[in-house]
Amino acid sequence: MSARAGNGSAGGASALLEVHGLRKYFPVLGGILNRAVAWVQAVDDIDFDVLPGEVLGIVGESGCGKSTTARLLMHLIRADAGRIAFDGEPVRPEDAAGLRELRRQMQMVFQDSYSSLNPRLPIEDTIMFGPKVHGVSAAEARERARELFSLVGLDPAQFIRRYPHELSGGQRQRVNIARALALEPRLLILDEAVSALDKSVEAQVLNLLLTLRRELGLTYIFISHDLNVVQYMSDRVLVMYLGKVVEIGPTAEIYQRMQHPYTEALLSAMPSMDPDRRTETPPLVGDPPNPIDPPPGCRFHTRCRFAEDVCRRAEPPLGPAAGEAAGPDHLVACHMRVAASGHSLAPAG
Ligand code: SF4
Repeated sequence: MSARAGNGSAGGASALLEVHGLRKYFPVLGGILNRAVAWVQAVDDIDFDVLPGEVLGIVGESGCGKSTTARLLMHLIRADAGRIAFDGEPVRPEDAAGLRELRRQMQMVFQDSYSSLNPRLPIEDTIMFGPKVHGVSAAEARERARELFSLVGLDPAQFIRRYPHELSGGQRQRVNIARALALEPRLLILDEAVSALDKSVEAQVLNLLLTLRRELGLTYIFISHDLNVVQYMSDRVLVMYLGKVVEIGPTAEIYQRMQHPYTEALLSAMPSMDPDRRTETPPLVGDPPNPIDPPPGCRFHTRCRFAEDVCRRAEPPLGPAAGEAAGPDHLVACHMRVAASGHSLAPAG
């Protein structure tokens, strides 16, 4: 089902981005003919949407499919199945002009601030590159680069002719944000964009992103392994496990009234200085199963303390979460926690 009740809209607002049934399996090559002998199920049939102006956080352990999802949305890699619509228009991978326009409207900021910039070019030229490719004159592109430098808190007079190696990590990530904004996109995908920064610099860049979102009306998909940062940034949170969406909902509901046992275990490991936030939930144990051969039924059943027979047999659909406190936008993929399932949660054994 759609990751939001009401088929991609909430309260009458149309989604900016809609994703249905997105799937990507990567081949594992082997044998003398170097053919696919197995498939890594990186992203498997996921649905979600993003409303204009919101920040959707995506969390999950390493290898859960967060970054593959980002690359699929940007069409940096081709999906095996699924539909993506931007601003109500279906995106067609074979439509080169349509993809070019999509990449103008959707930009990405990566974790590695250095490799995203050309080391041989002054950063002004890097920022001017995108607008020039899209037909903006050199003079206009230069003017725009200076405006963007000011917007991300860098003094153009001091920085604009520098090379990437002459900047700190935080300054480089500000340049990457400026580069991403150069084509006036509507949606930014931030893939671990602050993870490599020192904590004090990270806070500055996060606040810059929130200011830019407010001032420019931007929409973000914010991918991070840092649950505190996702909570600070996001309006809604999507939790992934082994290529699947297991829970999605408003941030406050996910962090205070999470329903999926995986979300619960993930959040129980979240560092907190607040003694009232200590949790009795045991943290996750063991590694996620091999994505080449995920467990049948619920993919989390091998690590779930509530697993029952049905969990090993049937894959739980993503559906409205049970409980009076759960809002209509809170969806979960768990036999015991989905509304009207007839099951209830109790530790096994
Ligand atoms: Fe655990 Fe079963 Fe729910 Fe999966 S469906 S999270 S195994 S209780």
